[in-house]
Amino acid sequence: MGARITRRDFLNGVALTAGAALIPPEMWAAAAADLEPQDATGYYPPAKTGLRGSHAGSFENMHKVRDGAFWEDAPKPVDTGESYDLVVVGGGISGLSAAHFFRKAAGPKARVLILENHDDFGGHAKRNEFRSGDAFRLGFGGTFSIESPAPYSPVAKGLIEELGIDVPSYHRHVNKSVYRSRGLKPHIFFDKETFGADKLVPNPKTSGFDESGINEPAGESAFESFLKNAPLSAQAKRDFERLSTEKKDYFPGLSSDEKKARLVRISYSKYLTEIVGVNDEIVKLYQALPHPLFGAGIDVVSALDAWGLGMVGFDGLNLDPSPGKGMNRDAIRNDEADKYFFHFPDGNASIARLLVRSLIPAAIPGTSSADVTLAKADYSRLDSSSSPVRIRLNSTVVKVAHKGDPATAKEVEVTYIMGKSVKTVRAAKCVLACWHVVIPYIAQELPAPQKEALAFAQKVPLLYSNVLIRNWKAFEKLSVNTVYCPGMYHSSVNLDLPVSIGGYECAKNPEDPIVVHMSKSACKPGHPIREQHKLGRIQLYSMTFETYERTIREQLARMVGPGGFEPARDIVEITVNRWPHGYAYQYNSLFDDFWLNGGETPCQIARKPFGRIAIANADADAYAYTDCAIDQGYRAVQELMSK
Ligand SMILES: Cc1cc2nc3c(=O)[nH]c(=O)nc-3n(C[C@H](O)[C@H](O)[C@H](O)COP(=O)(O)OP(=O)(O)OC[C@H]3O[C@@H](n4cnc5c(N)ncnc54)[C@H](O)[C@@H]3O)c2cc1C
Repeated sequence: MGARITRRDFLNGVALTAGAALIPPEMWAAAAADLEPQDATGYYPPAKTGLRGSHAGSFENMHKVRDGAFWEDAPKPVDTGESYDLVVVGGGISGLSAAHFFRKAAGPKARVLILENHDDFGGHAKRNEFRSGDAFRLGFGGTFSIESPAPYSPVAKGLIEELGIDVPSYHRHVNKSVYRSRGLKPHIFFDKETFGADKLVPNPKTSGFDESGINEPAGESAFESFLKNAPLSAQAKRDFERLSTEKKDYFPGLSSDEKKARLVRISYSKYLTEIVGVNDEIVKLYQALPHPLFGAGIDVVSALDAWGLGMVGFDGLNLDPSPGKGMNRDAIRNDEADKYFFHFPDGNASIARLLVRSLIPAAIPGTSSADVTLAKADYSRLDSSSSPVRIRLNSTVVKVAHKGDPATAKEVEVTYIMGKSVKTVRAAKCVLACWHVVIPYIAQELPAPQKEALAFAQKVPLLYSNVLIRNWKAFEKLSVNTVYCPGMYHSSVNLDLPVSIGGYECAKNPEDPIVVHMSKSACKPGHPIREQHKLGRIQLYSMTFETYERTIREQLARMVGPGGFEPARDIVEITVNRWPHGYAYQYNSLFDDFWLNGGETPCQIARKPFGRIAIANADADAYAYTDCAIDQGYRAVQELMSK
């Protein structure tokens, strides 16, 4: 079941309260002392646990702007008197890269301000820190690794190299034997609600590429063992075997192109049931396979994409190996891209931190890409008037407008809210590196068709829960390191990828504390894909930490309880990184006709520069990868340099 560890490896209610209750305590303390929250003693977001990602205090103001309620009771904006060469809205990798490229073009003295609504920089690339006794553990709260289905562009690769990251050296840092030497293997967890029984069964399909390097192919015996032990009906087992071995041409008489044209218009689940004719249990088994890539299941992923991703049922079609028209970029394999993989223990938060170090050296000590792993960021240095680059956190931008006619204006005014204060700054140029859905609300002067195109970029909701456990003896006893759980709340559960780098040591012994990474795609099978994302977003925003916690405890107890795991005893800490606005939405041949028919795509219309404003973010190329965020930051800056 393709249980690899890279993103593609994974293939294998309470209403929100509003207002004061949601403002974190340090905001109040800092406000009382007339400090920015990030300047307060002890301010250190990576060590926070509980509900993170889109955390309380980060989104409420923007939701009020969206609902047209913000300006009703907002205080009059106060002019800070600050003026910059560039203001960047959004402190994710795209915004940080834009600042980097701007300084390269405009010189190191250029004054840049980055405004970010979260309490930490990095956007989706977030760091989670944990401690248990003497053990220090890192987790990735979002962006997991350097990886992309297409090769990194020279610009993106150039930045990675400039930051000192030696991608080919990854294999020197990953401790391949930690799990292999103990016989730990990928498994599938069948749950009783979906399959009639709770059962952990070795995953029979761990062949193929594995950039993370920690798993070996499952081998023939795993297939036999799966057929024997999986709680599937006899018919489903026959279908499973047939799917894996049969070489039948389900479209006799059609050319390869004609077959691809059919596959691109039918979901994989329909292909399985209506064309291949398999039992519904098989559909349930495969349903969550594409979650890590698409944020949704096989009901909304085309059969052509499923073929591209190496899913079963296509061997007899004799398809030409070249990509088919309308394929999702995730489904197009590229050997060069597959080899370009690197994982820091905090994921690509290390890239964000290296960017911040290059922009504001005083904020992150150290000199190498490896030592950034243990470097402690000093948040009080991020927004210093003595630094040409400043990063202001907890600041939601609510308005961006040219001072005068956009065609001739020399300045843009940017209005933001921090705590209870609404303030303005001025800039000669502005890059909007924030989520595209936000832009029509804050940059109202943009043309209507552009706003419509921006609004199309609804993000894909995701949940990354990191659970620090006291030890992983239960996992060892059950010989499990990663688990695909098609019917459970979190569809994948993985022991941390064992990477040691720059003095950071991963957990090497089962007695050691370790981070278990659990991920969920918040989707609602049966609805069109974008409707699923919308429903998922609401679900993630409305669930309380207590409910997340209960769900996590129950899932782990059911999965590894038979190995001796006891949640109350063994769970030390939980950080739930919820991303209701997660991946950039990638176009889908089942729902987006323009993607098949050609012509300008929404992101191409959305990212057009307007006066002194340029538009970045991964949304600008509808591609949910770090390289895209970098490339779009670069493009946005180039567009502005001629202004
Ligand atoms: C859970 C998850 C896992 C991922 N894993 C990978 C991976 O392994 N590899 C990979 O290559 N890519 C991965 N991606 C995609 C990758 O993270 C993104 O493509 C990239 O980091 C996006 O960067 P960005 O700067 O474009 O956007 P973001 O990271 O979203 O940054 C934009 C920032 O703008 C802020 N903002 C929004 N509105 C406002 C406002 N009004 N005022 C101020 N700030 C605002 C947002 O809060 C955000 O912090 C993952 C994404 C997610 C969600």
